[in-house]
Formats: sequence, C-alpha cells, structure tokens
Amino acid sequence: MTFDELFIAEPILRAVREKGYNEPTPIQQQAIPVVALGRDIFGIAQTGTGKTAAFAIPILQTLWEERQRRQAVAQAAKPDADTAGQPVSETTETTGQPQQKPRRRDRRGRNHGKPREERLLRALILTPTRELALQIDECFTDYGKYTGLVHTSVFGGVKQAPQVEKLKRGVDILIATPGRLLDLRGQGYVDLDHITTFVLDEADRMLDMGFITDIRRVISMLPTKRQTLYFSATMPDDIVRLSRNILHDPVRIEVTPAASTVDAVEQTIYFVEKPDKKSLLIRELKRRSDRTVLVFSRTKHGADNISKILKKAGIESAAIHGDKSQGARQKALADFKAGKVKVMVATDIAARGIDIKELGTVINYDLPDVVETYVHRIGRTGRAGATGEALTFCSQDDHMMIKEIQALVGRPIHMELHQ
Ligand code: AMP
Repeated sequence: MTFDELFIAEPILRAVREKGYNEPTPIQQQAIPVVALGRDIFGIAQTGTGKTAAFAIPILQTLWEERQRRQAVAQAAKPDADTAGQPVSETTETTGQPQQKPRRRDRRGRNHGKPREERLLRALILTPTRELALQIDECFTDYGKYTGLVHTSVFGGVKQAPQVEKLKRGVDILIATPGRLLDLRGQGYVDLDHITTFVLDEADRMLDMGFITDIRRVISMLPTKRQTLYFSATMPDDIVRLSRNILHDPVRIEVTPAASTVDAVEQTIYFVEKPDKKSLLIRELKRRSDRTVLVFSRTKHGADNISKILKKAGIESAAIHGDKSQGARQKALADFKAGKVKVMVATDIAARGIDIKELGTVINYDLPDVVETYVHRIGRTGRAGATGEALTFCSQDDHMMIKEIQALVGRPIHMELHQ
C-alpha cells in the first residue's frame, strides 16, 4: 500500500514524501482511514510503530480541509480579500507557502498589516512526558509544514510565559502533559470548548505515572461530542476500564503485540555479581565504541553514578532523568541523537517512547520495576527493520524477574555468565 491510496491531501502527502517514507506502516494503514472517517480508536501500539503519524496525519487532514472550507467561504464573501489568515506563530508554524518572505513583526511577534486569522483549538493530544510532547510536536511540524495550521506543546518543568505567548497567538493543535495543561487552563489560557479530536497517548504510561485524576479532569472539560483516539502499548484492566468510559463505539486496532516487537533484537542476559556490574559495563561499552548505546538505570541517583564511573573509565556519557533540568535533558538527548555522545544513561521515566534512530545497543544495567518495561526499553533498538541488540545484567535478586521476562518475550534468551 502507498500513501496515495490513503487519500491524503496534497500538502500533507508532500511533507510525508519529504520525510522519505515510502509506505505507511501497518498502524498507519489501519488508523488513517478510520480516523479520517471520524471514528474513535482503541489502538494497541507502542512507540516505534509509526503511531504518531497514524493520528497526526488524519488530524492535520481534517483541520486542513476545514480551514480550506472556511477560507473559501471568507473569500467568497469578500471578493478582493487577499491571503488573510497567513500563519503567525514563530516556532512551530506551518506556513503552507515556505518560499514566501516572512511578514514584518514587532518584538512581541505581532505581524503588521494583515489581520490575524481567528484560530480555535480543535485537537488536543495528551501525553505523559515532556520528551514525548516535544517528539509529537516535531512530527506535527514535519507533516503539517504545508498546511498553514498552527500547533504548539505545553509541559511542566519550564517557565510558562513562552508557552502562554504562543497560546495567546492562537493554535489549532495542542500537545500537552496533563499537569501543565490543567494549570494553564485554570489561568484561562486554554479553551477546551471547541475540541473536536482528543488523543490520549501512552495511556498505560499515564496511569503508571499517577495521572488518572488529571486525565479524568481533562476529559470532564472536553465537549462530549468529540472524536477520541486512545493509544496504549499494553492492556491492563484499568486501561480497558478507562477506555470504556471515554470511547464511543471504537474501532480496535492492534499492531505488533508487545512481545513480538522485540524479534529484531538480539538479546543476551549476563549473570553477574552486583559489584562486578561496573566492570562488565565498561568492558561491553569499550567493545562497542563505534555504536550508540542506551544504558538503563533503575534510579536517578544510579544514572548519575554510572555516568561518573564511565567518566573515570574514559567513556563520555550523558545522563537523562527526571531530576535534570528541561534544558539539560533536551541537550543530552539532542547530543545523543546527533551521535555527539555515544552513550546515554537513562531512567525509565526519561527514556520511554523516545525515538533514537540507529540506536545499536540497549544495556539494562538494572532490571526495570515492571516486566513489560523490559520490552519498551529494548524496543528503543531494532527499529524500522534494523537489527539491534540488548544486554541485560542480572544479579542474584533478579532471577525471578528474568523468568517473567522470558515468559513475556515468548522465546529463550541467550545467557552468559560473567565472572
Ligand atoms: P512513532 O511510533 O510515531 O514514534 O514513529 C517511530 C519512527 O518511525 C519515527 O522516527 C518516524 O519518523 C518513523 N516513521 C513513521 N512513519 C513511517 C513510515 N511510514 N515509514 C518510515 N518511517 C516512519
């Protein structure tokens, strides 16, 4: 199947082609037509499957078509009207006419000479972490760059003023983490009354992170007549219960059940005494000095510690976790994605869902707290048809969990003894 067969509007198709995508992924093939028809979705899919484009493309398409209609009506009513309503946002704006010179603006970003287009917030995407919010924001920038639609993201841990500025200028699409969204709405900067599409991304992660009350509050503020797209990587009971309350006759779409997504990953478990983990890590990293490696630690303190140990061993690394400032996290991630730093040490909260192209190796220095997280962690590698490898350090206390991981993965994992 090609993207043309999904009847995607030309400006979006052009942007998708520029991204170099040849064909839609399975979740895109299934979800794009269904979302475009206005149906609710219960999507069981994890990051790495192309899930973001599966909801971003049809949302952009619907809002673009609506904007075209609005502009046609305005044009008909005012025959000599020029291109009123050119986009105005500075950072995430999608101009639709990239070759045009930018219009003059004053220091507050107000453009002169042209009336600003009235924009109502129509689509809300709720996601658990700042990193995911930024990643989704980037996708909307990429796929929507020729649509003239405006989007932005809001998340905690940073000053709200720049986010408020963008909201004040008007956005069509908002990507948000729950706490900051409620905060800004409480202050009157976000109007949820006109939302037509609501996406709950990584629902299982949201519940794990204790966002259930916030999610319920957000949902209670949305119009009851709306489209809801619900995505979760796993299907525990509370996820199914929540879905029953918020979805209306959903189409269920399931791609690559969690365990089978890891087939492309060569997995090895090292049995190692706790005190020897450090030397094993250094040895394995030195063997892979030409690869990018993501090392998972159970705690923030542990992540910093591992980074220090590596520094002493002459291996440069960046640590990313919830205690780091937003700026530090973004810089670490950018350096890692660009290959400037080969090793990144992360906790689960910081690393889940993060998309890192050509990530060679994942090392589980510590096992995760929850078995399913193993699959998410190693799913950072072996993406988009590439082969990856995952090394897991297992000490005495971890044997029970290793059995559970084996059961979840559904096939034997290669094991080695380190001494
Ligand atoms: P996601 O699951 O949305 O995080 O996407 C994972 C990765 O797949 C991202 O790097 C996307 O840019 C990429 N991607 C999404 N759709 C396609 C496609 N149709 N063909 C190739 N890569 C894609």
